[in-house]
Amino acid sequence: MLKSKASSNATDQRNVTRLRVLEKIRATGTISRIDIASALETSPATITTATADLLSAGLIEEIESETSSKSARRGRPRVQLKLNGASHLIAGVKVARQQVSVILVDFEGTEITSYTHPLDQARMAPDAFAKKIRAVLDQACASANRSLADLSGVCIGIAGLIDANQNFVHWSSSLTERNVDLSPLLSEVLPCPAFIENDANLVAKAEQLFGLGKGLKNFLVVTIEHGIGLGIVLDGKLYRGERGCGAEFGHLKVQLDGALCQCGQRGCLEAYVGEYALIREATIASEATDPRTLVDILAAAKAGDARSISVLARAGQMFGMGVSNLINLFDPECIILSGARGRFDYLHSDEVMARVQNGVVSVDAPLPEIKVNHWGDSMWAKGAAAYGIEQVSILKVRELAAHAN
Ligand SMILES: [Zn+2]
Repeated sequence: MLKSKASSNATDQRNVTRLRVLEKIRATGTISRIDIASALETSPATITTATADLLSAGLIEEIESETSSKSARRGRPRVQLKLNGASHLIAGVKVARQQVSVILVDFEGTEITSYTHPLDQARMAPDAFAKKIRAVLDQACASANRSLADLSGVCIGIAGLIDANQNFVHWSSSLTERNVDLSPLLSEVLPCPAFIENDANLVAKAEQLFGLGKGLKNFLVVTIEHGIGLGIVLDGKLYRGERGCGAEFGHLKVQLDGALCQCGQRGCLEAYVGEYALIREATIASEATDPRTLVDILAAAKAGDARSISVLARAGQMFGMGVSNLINLFDPECIILSGARGRFDYLHSDEVMARVQNGVVSVDAPLPEIKVNHWGDSMWAKGAAAYGIEQVSILKVRELAAHAN
């Protein structure tokens, strides 16, 4: 009993080392074994074993390069390691209200193709949702002359309360039902593992890997689209909360028994700032019979319509109060506001920033930087692909361990 526990601990340790080595190679592009050993403060023998395992699994490959290291003789070829991009094809999917965006990447994260598909319905029954994902992936693969069977993993980002470890959706604005275990539905229609994640977490992942969060240890990403999302990166890692229900910035209560939110509760930030909330406010106020969109409200405000200006200003003040609460809670290096271009300028106006400043507990130190990143759905999908690569890496390393035992 003790022996098997000890051996499983040793396997776990080997997997941790393999994943750290893989992560290091991914971060540097190309690197020698000896440089990995010194970066990870691990013995060269341990690194040699780990890289042999990763080579045998086809996840990395050796290349020879002329060294420029001072410690080695000039011009002497040195074996470097890099990821084997061709080893896996991974799909990142972002499900928004009006469309599904897909990006196909190789194991190095290089984009193979991107593809978007319009959605007739924003909310779908769980089985229809799974079938829609399958159909869109089919088309995306075909557009790159590949097939579904080539995929090693799919990561799907949707809005809502998601337990990413279990592929369990507590609630999502994309599904007609609550408490949905998507694993069996997706495994029925897809030939490869699928992973579900909250879409704001995926944007945080993309910001960390390719965007404004690069090199930062502690930062927050606030996503603004139909609803308001938050991704929290603490000490370089995504924080999800114990049940996967953390970071629900949109459902931070800003008003006692206030406006009705799409989550079913009252007084949520999103019920004042989200796109649907602005449309609701502006529609009631104008007594307009025509359905209005956020673009209409923005245009009316620009043309001087007092009601539209007031709806947007109120949303900005609520948002500023929310952001100051985030700063008081987390004291991050930076907050990144992320969303589609031109759609949320009213949320980072000078007045909103003044509200943020007024709400932050006063200390004699500068405020965290607030940066704006205008991203389209393809970048959300890119975050999904990055998460997919990470999950496929973990699965493949686990398979290595299973074969070795
Ligand atoms: Zn809510």
